[in-house]
Amino acid sequence: MFHALQLTDKETITLTQLDENDLPEGDVSVAVSYSTINYKDALAVTGSAPIARSYPMVPGIDFSGVVTQSDNPDYHVGDKVVLNGWGVGESHWGGFAQQARVKGKWLIKLPEGLSEADAMRIGTAGYTAMLCCNALRDHGVTPESGPIIVSGATGGVGSIAVYILAKRGYTVHALSGKPEQRDYLLGLGATDTLDRAQYAEKARALGQQLWAGAVDVVGSHTLANIIANTQYGGVVTACGLAQGMDLPSSVAPFILRGVSLVGVDSVYCPIAKRQAAWHDLANEMDISQLSDIAHTIGLDGVETAAKALMAGTVTGRYLVDLK
Ligand code: NDP
Repeated sequence: MFHALQLTDKETITLTQLDENDLPEGDVSVAVSYSTINYKDALAVTGSAPIARSYPMVPGIDFSGVVTQSDNPDYHVGDKVVLNGWGVGESHWGGFAQQARVKGKWLIKLPEGLSEADAMRIGTAGYTAMLCCNALRDHGVTPESGPIIVSGATGGVGSIAVYILAKRGYTVHALSGKPEQRDYLLGLGATDTLDRAQYAEKARALGQQLWAGAVDVVGSHTLANIIANTQYGGVVTACGLAQGMDLPSSVAPFILRGVSLVGVDSVYCPIAKRQAAWHDLANEMDISQLSDIAHTIGLDGVETAAKALMAGTVTGRYLVDLK
């Protein structure tokens, strides 16, 4: 028997005990060590959006752990692994349980130097942040191109994007609704902070050419304002919708300034890009600094933490300890 959080319908989540025989189909079984609470998990746990596609569902879109049984030639008992996305926690039981059974092709072996706890302190948010930072780099944005703006900067994706970009030598401006977290953001490497209220209302077609690049996790008017304030040839990566799913923008920045909008998806991202992102995370993150970003909780703390995340009052990330 093992402990798990289970959604029995959209509104009801219970801390329960399950049997190994209850686990879904898959060719690799994993003793889950850690998970984390992503925005999508908070939506699922609080019943704020229909994230679970069927019930009962164990939420949790990511986890790290150790392989306990494998019919997949690429994985062996004792391998340390990490999983992000692939519909886990949505259509296939996820990481808020002490055991999981999944398809081996969804897994990545933990890179050398990263512990299971570190991997989930980074989590899907950090992995997505790295996908965004790598997309900027791969689209030719260098530290010399000019400053980068990161929205939702105190959140999971934003915090780690600020940290990675600063470490890569970019000048980073952190857009945030939490003025009291200015020191935290400067500590992560931001050069300056901006009040998100400046970007929250309807954007003009074109604004000042301030940014060489952007990591946007917010969408809606914020993304539209960022695009309007991006310099000639600049690149905006978009991965989130914390303000909204709409994009009330115009084509002006694209056709008059050659601005590029690059979408970033972590869930079905091809394996090579995932491996590269995790490799970069292992090499570039200062693990000791991660402890400042993540608060550790147990399965019994997930519901409260998810509510705080939905209320937008959280700085950093939650590490869920399942050991
Ligand atoms: P968090 O909740 O940790 O952070 C979101 C941050 O956005 C908040 O901390 C806050 O930062 C800011 N924010 C919240 N509400 C608003 C608002 N109404 N207007 C403007 N800013 C707001 O979430 P994550 O960082 O984990 O995820 C961020 C987004 O990225 C989510 O929409 C998530 O679904 C998406 N995402 C997408 C992925 C993909 O594969 N495409 C993968 C992972 C996440 P502050 O107070 O500093 O302004």
